[in-house]
Amino acid sequence: GNGARDRLRIAIQKSGRLAEPARALLNACGLSWRESRDRLFCYGESLPVDLLLVRDDDIPGLIRDGVCDLGVVGRNVLLEQDIALRSEGGTTAFREWRALGFGGCRLALAVPEGWAWQSPAQLGSTRIATSYPAILRQWLDGQGIAAEVVELSGSVEIAPRLGQADAICDLVSSGATLAANQLKPVMTLLESEAVLAGPAAENFGQLWDDARGELAELLLRRLDGVLRMRH
Ligand code: ATP
Ligand code: ZN
Repeated sequence: GNGARDRLRIAIQKSGRLAEPARALLNACGLSWRESRDRLFCYGESLPVDLLLVRDDDIPGLIRDGVCDLGVVGRNVLLEQDIALRSEGGTTAFREWRALGFGGCRLALAVPEGWAWQSPAQLGSTRIATSYPAILRQWLDGQGIAAEVVELSGSVEIAPRLGQADAICDLVSSGATLAANQLKPVMTLLESEAVLAGPAAENFGQLWDDARGELAELLLRRLDGVLRMRH
């Protein structure tokens, strides 16, 4: 953080799968907001807790840079960026403060339906397309597999049909998209869901010695109550 602040700032997805459930959850914690005209910033009314509405991929960076204090983001995005930062020599910047129980999906390895799948060793010297190169690379290294990681920002599931890759590593929920592309999931690399992300620390008091520490603790207590009731 840069300097003392008396308001807590939380980044959430502006639009997409996590946008509405994230707002509904914070709402259930007793937060309410007045929206700005550009709809990028929501000013907290019931508590000094503001929202920044952004692309999910920007959330870890906003936390790391201290622009936002906390964020609601998929574990998949948080872990990808955490591994990428650490592979550049950084230390762990993030912590998952709570798993939030929505946005569930898994990051899975999928191969063409025609493959007789036996073990990950079959992936040696194949090309695997993904939007999660850091997670995939770490997993491949752990398995001792020399495969080529082909980084794509979207439409990963059509890469095998286009001849860009032999297999893919992508997010799966129902599996319908994979089936539509004649692919089958064979390994799960990560079970994911939306999480409350923040900087790595033991407790909020270590992070902020201004009003944000107590605000974050209050939010977490309410969040735990709401999550218990939803269970
Ligand atoms: P943005 O415009 O914010 O970058 P996006 O297109 O990257 O949006 P969404 O498709 O809205 O993101 O997905 C956001 C998150 O929802 C994912 O990172 C993941 O954690 C979760 N999710 C749950 N199910 C799925 C799924 N079937 N496919 C993709 N993401 C899923
Ligand atoms: Zn995104």
